[in-house]
Amino acid sequence: MSSRLVQCGIVVAVLAGMGAPSALAQKTTGQASGGATAPEKPKVKAIACPTGKTTCRRGELLVVAGRGMEFATTVVFEGRKGRRDDRSARPTAAVGEMLTVEVPSSARSGRIKVVTRGIGASRSRTALRVKAKARVAPPAPDPTITGPSTFPIQGTWEILDTYVTKFGGGRGHQGQDVFAKCGTPLVAPTAAKVTHVKYHSAAGHYIVMKNADGHSYAMMHMLKKSPLSVGDELQPGTPVGQVGETGRASGCHLHFELWTAPGWYEGGEPIDPLPQLRAWAAAAGK
Ligand SMILES: [Zn+2]
Repeated sequence: MSSRLVQCGIVVAVLAGMGAPSALAQKTTGQASGGATAPEKPKVKAIACPTGKTTCRRGELLVVAGRGMEFATTVVFEGRKGRRDDRSARPTAAVGEMLTVEVPSSARSGRIKVVTRGIGASRSRTALRVKAKARVAPPAPDPTITGPSTFPIQGTWEILDTYVTKFGGGRGHQGQDVFAKCGTPLVAPTAAKVTHVKYHSAAGHYIVMKNADGHSYAMMHMLKKSPLSVGDELQPGTPVGQVGETGRASGCHLHFELWTAPGWYEGGEPIDPLPQLRAWAAAAGK
């Protein structure tokens, strides 16, 4: 396999560089943890905008990493001194030691306070810089993928549209990372045929499948070897494995690649799978 393969470890590297060594880097047991745990007092360790830096546009998703983030009830964008320009928002999602929150349309530059009701609050050490909203239309999904389909993760998941988790060919990141607990079932998104079931030091346990149009889907860092074999015919929703963090990955996530015909390392090109993932998510009502 090519050395152009995935570099998911950079997610951790960037957050670690921001002073959040435990965010995402924290090892899990490799099993879905299941039951609820008691809320922890929040401790904000790092914030990151989609660029990976601390300047966000209004309406963008801010990632806040630190202890107890999954229990946060409110995120306050404190703006300038005093409460007059404080803007509160609810987290849009939380996975482990990380939450995402949309930067409110009237938020101003300032520190971020994460509040867990009845438990406590914690402020970011760094201030967030807030810029005006961008006016860009979301890219359209690849129109050539048709027919019945489903999102490739069955369970709770979170797409982080950040510099380190999104597609970036120039950085060697050929897919989109989607975070979910280790053990969450992975399924075929459309009808497809299995072309590879392998292990690689960077990709971990992975599976590649091809649909009737010649597009390939690659799913990496799986918990263990897929029970499927090359040549198996899959329907949308056929189980293919489980979310894991094998290979060069820290934090349980699916690394998902979408390749044009004639397919994965067979002459096709990796393309940004995010619009397609969003389309599948929207079709599933998320
Ligand atoms: Zn990745």
